[in-house]
Amino acid sequence: MDSYQLYKECPQCGEENIQKLDINSWFCLDCDWDNLSTISNDNDELVSSLLHGDIHSRRIAAQSLINIGDAERHIATQADTQTLINALDDEDSDVRYFVAVALGKLEATLSLAKLKDIAQNDNSALVRQGASTAIEQIEEGFQKKLISG
Ligand SMILES: [Zn+2]
Repeated sequence: MDSYQLYKECPQCGEENIQKLDINSWFCLDCDWDNLSTISNDNDELVSSLLHGDIHSRRIAAQSLINIGDAERHIATQADTQTLINALDDEDSDVRYFVAVALGKLEATLSLAKLKDIAQNDNSALVRQGASTAIEQIEEGFQKKLISG
């Protein structure tokens, strides 16, 4: 019997922009919902393995960065933006995708130029989609900051 859950829409916001990482790991691109277990609370360790780990640990690090948008599990800061931008050059498309999503959730305005380049030119359709979504989130966050002063 299947013990895992399949999601067609987000249980929190009801949107269909829900992404599957593996058989039992899901997250929503439109809000902060996910059912991922937090992999590491150690930000330095995470950032280090994102840059220097083997392909498996880079993917795990990049996946756990998606929790950035969740205030209660806030593990990266604006100070990590440059590191994340560098990780957008990773040779692995899964890593680039997760990092793009993370930058969107972080509303990292510094990454906009690079994300726009990736949204146009990355050879992975998934990465282009992730970058496009991130750009929208960053630009929306920027508008809100302008309005609220
Ligand atoms: Zn949602």
